[in-house]
Amino acid sequence: MSTSFETVWGVATATGRRSGNEDSFLADPPVFVVADGMGGHDAGEVASAIVVQEFSDLRGRETVEPEDLFDRIERGAARIRALSAPPGRGAGTTLAGVVLSRRDGAPYWLVVNIGDSRVYRSADGALEQVTVDHSEVQELLDSGELTPTEADDYPRRHVVTRAVGAFAQVRPELWMLPAGPNDRILVCSDGLTGELSDEAIRELLLTSGDPQQSADALVQAALDHGGHDNVTVVVVDGRGADDDDATVPSLAESDDDTHPRGDLDPVAEAVL
Ligand code: MN
Repeated sequence: MSTSFETVWGVATATGRRSGNEDSFLADPPVFVVADGMGGHDAGEVASAIVVQEFSDLRGRETVEPEDLFDRIERGAARIRALSAPPGRGAGTTLAGVVLSRRDGAPYWLVVNIGDSRVYRSADGALEQVTVDHSEVQELLDSGELTPTEADDYPRRHVVTRAVGAFAQVRPELWMLPAGPNDRILVCSDGLTGELSDEAIRELLLTSGDPQQSADALVQAALDHGGHDNVTVVVVDGRGADDDDATVPSLAESDDDTHPRGDLDPVAEAVL
């Protein structure tokens, strides 16, 4: 028997101190994605809109396979590359988010990432970063050449090592996480994580049972901390359909910091 599972969500975006907003998003079940465009003139805005648009035909689908996501990413990359030649010199975009799907009747999150937008999950009051940035600063952290404190001030911290359309290849990573009725998913562009610590994000994310209020609070906090970049936040709650009492995320374990990643290894890494 397949369990009923639904989503409730909120979205907020702001331009910050930039001249335009090059972030795009799609929040329409089962698709919740954020894209952060890059490139001169309006190229970034166009690129992020293209990749998000490619996902729009998945709206209303009960089941989505990894290949469905890879197909749309590949098509988006081809369209973005066609905007500017040669690749690497022009338009590109990050893409991060979740798509709710089912396997053997059970709900799960397909988590996808290319670049330095992020997906976090909170299931028990703690916050877990699911995706790993594809960025120069992440590589230097991984190799031990930078400490986390040094990374905060690293001048090239905005340089991504993977993107949709900006490189000859697009290399998405994919995770599959069982979806539970206590899950709260955060999808965000780096305009959020560049301004706020994980602890600040955790507190704001879990302050309200209403995902829209949490999304608004997170974007406002990023603006209050400087708002140097476009900031986009999608907050998605999982709900069992029989669960009439909205499952309000809890701050009960407020002593917990961000969870270690544990065994959160991607299930697939495609080269498209
Ligand atoms: Mn950004």
